[in-house]
Amino acid sequence: MEETLPTDIQATPLRYTLNAEQEKKEIIRHYRALLRSLRPKLKKGDKELVRHAFEMAAEAHKSMRRKSGEPYILHPIAVAMICVEEIGLGVRSTICALLHDTVEDTDISLEDVEREFGIEIAKIVDGLTKISNVIDTNTSQQAENFKKILLTLTDDPRVILIKLADRLHNMRTLDHMKREKQLKIASETVWVYAPLAHRMGLYTVKTELEDLSMKYMEPDAYREIARKLSETRRERTRYINEFIRPLKEKLQAQHFDFEIYGRPKSIHSIWNKIKKKQVSFDEVYDLFAIRVILNSPAEKEKEDCWKVYSMVTDEYNPSPERLRDWLSNPKSNGYEALHTTVMGPQGRWVEVQIRTKRMNEIAEKGLAAHFKYKEGNQDEDRFDKWFGQIREVLSAPDTDGVDFLQDFKTSFLAEEIYVYTPKGEVKMLPTGSTALDFAFAIHSAIGSKCIGAKVHHRLVPIGHKLRSGDQVEIITSNKQKPSEDWLSLVVTAKAKNKIKDSLREEKRKIAEEGKYLLQRKLEAQGASASRENLEELVVFYKVNSILDLHYKIANKSIDLKELKTFQVIGDRLDIPKPKPVIQEPVPDSAQRLANKKDSELVIFGESSDKIMYNLAKCCNPIPGDDVFGFVSTGKGLIIHRTSCPNATQLLANYGHRVVKTKWAKNKEISFLTGLRIIGLDDVGVINKITNVISGDLKINISGLSIDSREGFFEGNIRVFVHDKEELEELVDRLKALNGIQTVDRVEEEK
Ligand code: MN
Repeated sequence: MEETLPTDIQATPLRYTLNAEQEKKEIIRHYRALLRSLRPKLKKGDKELVRHAFEMAAEAHKSMRRKSGEPYILHPIAVAMICVEEIGLGVRSTICALLHDTVEDTDISLEDVEREFGIEIAKIVDGLTKISNVIDTNTSQQAENFKKILLTLTDDPRVILIKLADRLHNMRTLDHMKREKQLKIASETVWVYAPLAHRMGLYTVKTELEDLSMKYMEPDAYREIARKLSETRRERTRYINEFIRPLKEKLQAQHFDFEIYGRPKSIHSIWNKIKKKQVSFDEVYDLFAIRVILNSPAEKEKEDCWKVYSMVTDEYNPSPERLRDWLSNPKSNGYEALHTTVMGPQGRWVEVQIRTKRMNEIAEKGLAAHFKYKEGNQDEDRFDKWFGQIREVLSAPDTDGVDFLQDFKTSFLAEEIYVYTPKGEVKMLPTGSTALDFAFAIHSAIGSKCIGAKVHHRLVPIGHKLRSGDQVEIITSNKQKPSEDWLSLVVTAKAKNKIKDSLREEKRKIAEEGKYLLQRKLEAQGASASRENLEELVVFYKVNSILDLHYKIANKSIDLKELKTFQVIGDRLDIPKPKPVIQEPVPDSAQRLANKKDSELVIFGESSDKIMYNLAKCCNPIPGDDVFGFVSTGKGLIIHRTSCPNATQLLANYGHRVVKTKWAKNKEISFLTGLRIIGLDDVGVINKITNVISGDLKINISGLSIDSREGFFEGNIRVFVHDKEELEELVDRLKALNGIQTVDRVEEEK
């Protein structure tokens, strides 16, 4: 029997050459490895259940293959393996991971799963099925899907943990996908899944997801940093050893049971630093962090960490602003540690992270490890609290669309700050929160009446951005009420929802007046305020609802002068029908392009008369750049670089409007781009630069500005180039000049 295969599964490509017998052995080998790592967690009867799940999945997927040509079943096995080894999940989750794609892609139904494995497992598999296709749908559907993820997440967190394992394996095997699919999946991963992993406390998974996304979204930068990291490895190891040696001796002398080592930072985080601080690789000082892991009994954890802190800072001088104490106030994802940055040998700043074995396990395995240690702990649980907040927001009306996704990200996935009430109670808020957010976090009645706040006894406006450690006293007035512009002053979903509620309530009150007014006018004409008549008026005045109609009558944006001209039949208004609007021919060229997804669109430069497109102002692409086309509403096709700051958001949210795009060779048209040059201020330096550009390379300069101060200069130059190759040659030539330190391409026009 032929099976209909899901879109990303295809028939076997030729490169997969194992015969059936060998393939079977390979599958069994992977399955046995899974059992081996699960062994310590197996109780009586578990092994049979796992085997049953494996056999059921293997049978169901038996004629399916992944893009790489591998038998499909290797994917669920790998996902299960990640759940066990890297996330620390147990038997139930392993069974769910093995079955996670069956209900979606095979003949197995949810009832089958429930019959064989019970309701608990069926529920998790159901959750995994619902959220399996977040990509390739339109935006509102995507927000809908994401809401589902969150609902199932708060139902049973294992759903999201298994989903993260699934995503991680898909990212590890993304090579076999088509380029535009890689971009979509990768951007969705950095946009939604990496922050979720972070929020679940899975640092290792989060880091790998980010690195893998970068590998596909910005391959050049990724390779460059990876290369430099491996080039500098020996030197780094030597330095780390030198740094560690005296600390090791001290710790041993005090009879600590410990581990100390240096750990490289992720490529993605190094890249972020380079971009954010506008520095070069060589100037990123924290390419690694030193980690001290203590094996301390529960009651001595905090004390021991501080003892080690004191030993470290006896040896090396700490930077006063860079002490982070997550021992006393753990992050809400459970992270606990002491971080400090000290001055190491050769005048280099080094970050030192101090934590215990238990804390380390929570840092690496997050939620799962957290539950393991929770037993018997009566503390208010941070995850439970977080889930509670999510549930509260999800239950509010009006949580649709892209706005919701964005709001959710800023209020639940951002880093957080700690602020204090006047009585010293601590509140956790997402970074960027304002005094108004804080007021709503205390109580919605306080938020609605907030007119300002005192931060450390100083008066600040309601939109004042709070910082960690602020002590905030809210000032209220009974005359205050929320207004439309408050929405732009808050970041938390709770505050946003409460403000919207109150605006709606306000509108309803005003609309009451309009309702009364309209009723009187209708009655004067012998017509009634029946639903039928009101709906006719809604259509006639082109408003969205009866509430809107009443509201606009009350605030006089509808004046009802036409009302007198309408005939009344019985008590019915007879309103002349507006002329039918002629439908515009819909499929314009851009829309057609979007529909023809797989075909590659070739753009020619500005002389092209075939396709109308614009180059995005945010990233100014030039031929040779890795680009994609985005079908915008109204402005046709817009070409962005895949490294554009807006790319992630566009690709993750509007994947269905992305068109694969490629440059055609065209040497006649030039493109404007910018360079920032930094170097030593020197007589004649401008001359040298312009000589290279317009003399040697005959490139046109469109603008040039040079700022110099204290022996340095920073030059911004705008030039016309034909393509990336030419730009690269120019950059190389400029870098080779005496006294030039950095030459960087700048994206945005200043
Ligand atoms: Mn899967």
